Amino acid sequence: MALPPRNEGGRRVDLHAHTTYSDGLLSPADLVQRAFDVGIAALGVTDHDSIDGIPEARAAAGSRLEIVPGIEVSSSRGGSEIHVLGYYLDSENAALKQRLAEFQSERRSRVYAMAERLGAVGVPVDAEEVIVRAGAGVVGRPHIAEALLRAGHVTSVDDAFRRYLGPNGVAYVPRPRFTPESAIELIHQAGGISVLAHPGSSMPDLVIESLAASGLRGLEVWHPQHTPPVVRRFQALAARLGLLATGGSDYHGPGRGADLGDRPVPARVLETLKRAAGVSG
Ligand code: AMP
Ligand code: ZN
Ligand code: FE
Ligand code: FE
Repeated sequence: MALPPRNEGGRRVDLHAHTTYSDGLLSPADLVQRAFDVGIAALGVTDHDSIDGIPEARAAAGSRLEIVPGIEVSSSRGGSEIHVLGYYLDSENAALKQRLAEFQSERRSRVYAMAERLGAVGVPVDAEEVIVRAGAGVVGRPHIAEALLRAGHVTSVDDAFRRYLGPNGVAYVPRPRFTPESAIELIHQAGGISVLAHPGSSMPDLVIESLAASGLRGLEVWHPQHTPPVVRRFQALAARLGLLATGGSDYHGPGRGADLGDRPVPARVLETLKRAAGVSG
């Protein structure tokens, strides 16, 4: 079974989606509406380095839709980005709150640093405006890409990443080092369950094995970037390493990649996740 069956028990869940609190296009309330429209029974709200969208999502959902509170923590190892999902964290955890505030201020400094480089190569953007437009949420390269697009310096967001913002782009500034092991630890000390996000096809088993040895609890098996053979590989690896298998669409909004609910995960995945997190109901 490469893809989850489409209607097992009728209840479908999607454990990976972004809102305007990071680089998603929809507000938490609009994301919840989209979840109703596509008919999923539970929605994971997993913004990059932020949990601030969760209260609004819960308020919009009421008792009609189950919200799975989450986060997608950015980290890196040897120059490659590694994302670690966290579920059911204690939002009042002091160390978590402090670390997320630090990420936010590091991200703002990085916007200024990248804007300076963009100015130096003749494609200026206003860092202050980028930050203001990102709103209450976490600012990132996608917001700089939008600014480049508005200014007519690039033809698309993809073009912006290729020429300027990606690791080989002239304006690229890496984020301060934060390892996947630190991300796992941050999630665990806040009482959450850590899940390696979209490992993709290029991450060696050895890396995943070492993260499992560091306490990683789960693996995102179903993801738009994972072809059926990749899904099968990760199902086997999760079983071998005793990791929870999760999945989701990594929804960022209309016209941005996969639609919400495109990687419907069986409801039993969520039941297992909740048991691991000690969450009832
Ligand atoms: P940041 O967290 O600021 O480093 O930005 C990383 C985010 O940019 C990723 O999580 C993706 O959502 C987005 N991103 C990365 N590469 C691209 C690309 N080529 N095109 C569009 N978005 C991208
Ligand atoms: Zn994103
Ligand atoms: Fe990611
Ligand atoms: Fe994501």
